[in-house]
Amino acid sequence: MSRKIAIFPASFDPVTNGHVDLIDRISRLALFDEIVIAIGINLSKPPRFTFEERKEMLETVTANYNHITIEQYSGLTAHYALERGACTVIRGLREMSDFEDEFQMARMNHQIAPGVDTLFMMASAKYAYLSSTLVVEIFQMGSTKMSDEKLLEIVPPVVVKMLRKKFEPSSGNG
Ligand code: ADP
Repeated sequence: MSRKIAIFPASFDPVTNGHVDLIDRISRLALFDEIVIAIGINLSKPPRFTFEERKEMLETVTANYNHITIEQYSGLTAHYALERGACTVIRGLREMSDFEDEFQMARMNHQIAPGVDTLFMMASAKYAYLSSTLVVEIFQMGSTKMSDEKLLEIVPPVVVKMLRKKFEPSSGNG
């Protein structure tokens, strides 16, 4: 029987507890032999972290999963899914506002790659408001006044460390 591979494409710039929660819940369903966390390029957002930095964060947070691989891709997600032999694209749904874009993308991907389906997972209520952009705004505006404990509610420890290093160069955390 062929291996069942899923890709979870996102920019992970940086990875948040919302992404980690999604990865954990999908993994626990044991639907796939391999889940490829695919770091993509988002044309509408200039990158904050390099690919190597994002890969390092993702490798740290997924160290306990042996069926997860971290990769980078460019071009269309549907083409990458085909190239990678994936049967499924995993996406998360947070607010109603995610629906329109996600449905459009899922339909387009299915048209380009009819053998590839999109699997939507609802965001957990406590992370439904959380995005990488919000995390970076919090860091740029006021992280120095926030405790690690508060920041760990939204991002994993390795991300707190790398965000402090990037946005608080004099914090001595580097
Ligand atoms: P992109 O910039 O490519 O949209 P993101 O990292 O912002 O990448 O998000 C990509 C995927 O991760 C989407 O499917 C999104 O719904 C999901 N996601 C992002 N944040 C969360 C969250 N807090 N909870 C669940 N899913 C999330």
